[in-house]
Amino acid sequence: MGGAQKSSRSDRTGFVCRVVTPGVNAADEWRAELAERGELTPEIVARILDVHGERGKRALEAVSEGRVKGYNDFTVVVGYSEEYVVEGEGCTCKDAEYNLDGDDPTQRCWHVLAVDIAERVGEVEAHDMWYSEVREFV
Ligand SMILES: [Zn+2]
Repeated sequence: MGGAQKSSRSDRTGFVCRVVTPGVNAADEWRAELAERGELTPEIVARILDVHGERGKRALEAVSEGRVKGYNDFTVVVGYSEEYVVEGEGCTCKDAEYNLDGDDPTQRCWHVLAVDIAERVGEVEAHDMWYSEVREFV
């Protein structure tokens, strides 16, 4: 007994003991941390920008502006000129289609990132409608 205390909990100053797990990539890391905190902290924002660059920035803007909308069938991200349907890690945009390496989990278009962020901080704007029915009117 040396009075040594074991403490692995996070305290209220926001310090979290982090365990580096092999095989967990940088993108999984902020997702896990964001899910745990349930809000965007400056550290998590910095991490997202660090890992995803310009895409991360656009994703954060979309979340803060309430441009992530949850329909009964799909989650939709409102872009500057179009709306994009995000399903899991897939998206209907050209960026996802042409530019991204699907095998690299840190490469996701900003719409998918926006949905990932919005879901974890409770910022998905719920619409009790079916996007497949309303999309032709928007
Ligand atoms: Zn996209």
